[in-house]
Amino acid sequence: MSEQENKHKQRQQKLKESVDARIEAAQEEKGILLVLTGNGKGKSTSGFGTVARAVGHGKRAAVVQFIKGTWECGERNLLEKAGVDFYVMGTGFTWETQDKEKDIAAAAEAWESAEKLLADDTIDCVMLDELTYMVSYHYLDVDRVIQALNNRPTMQHVIITGRACHRKLIDLADTVSEVKPIKHAFEAGIKAQVGFDY
Ligand code: ATP
Ligand code: MG
Repeated sequence: MSEQENKHKQRQQKLKESVDARIEAAQEEKGILLVLTGNGKGKSTSGFGTVARAVGHGKRAAVVQFIKGTWECGERNLLEKAGVDFYVMGTGFTWETQDKEKDIAAAAEAWESAEKLLADDTIDCVMLDELTYMVSYHYLDVDRVIQALNNRPTMQHVIITGRACHRKLIDLADTVSEVKPIKHAFEAGIKAQVGFDY
C-alpha cells in the first residue's frame, strides 16, 4: 500500500470511529417535529416522501392541507389508496376567494381536524401541509398550535411545511430544513405541470 493509500485508510478509519461513536450516543427515540420551510421547491414533496416512508413501514399517517389548490394533488391520489386520511381546507386560497372571514373559518375547521390527529396516539405521523401561512396571516394563533404540538403523543412525528415559518415553531422543532431556491422553471415561463408540480 502506498503512503497516500495508507493515509486515506487512516483518515477513513478515524471518521468511521467518530460516526460510530455519535450513532452509539444517539439513543433516544421520540416523535420528531420536522419543519420544511424556505422559498425553494421541494417542501411538500419532501413531507409526502416522509409520509410514504412511514406508510411503507406499516405506520399510520394523516395529512391536513391548509391550502386547497385549484389542482388535484397527485400524492393524495396515491396515499389515500394506501390508507392515509386527508383533510383539505374547505375553501380556496385568499387570492382566489378574497373573503377573509371565510378563509379564517376554513382555517379554524382544518385546524380542528389537526388537533384531533395530534391527540390520537394511533396516528404515527401527521403532516400539516402549508400550515405556516395560517400562522403568518394570523388565521391561527401560534400558541394554540404550539400547545397541541406539545401535548401530542410522545412517539408521534409531525411534519410542518410552508414558507416563512414562525420563529416559535422553528424553536420548538427538532429538525428544520430550509429549501433554498437556486432557480425555478416558472421564472423561465414554464408552467406548473401535472405529475411533476402537483
Ligand atoms: P412542492 O409541492 O413541489 O414540493 P413546495 O411545497 O416547496 O413545492 P409551495 O410553496 O408549496 O412549494 O408551492 C407549490 C407549487 O409552487 C408547486 O407547484 C411548486 O412547483 C411551485 N413552486 C415552489 N417553489 C417555487 C418557486 N420558488 N418559484 C415558483 N414556483 C414555485
Ligand atoms: Mg408546498
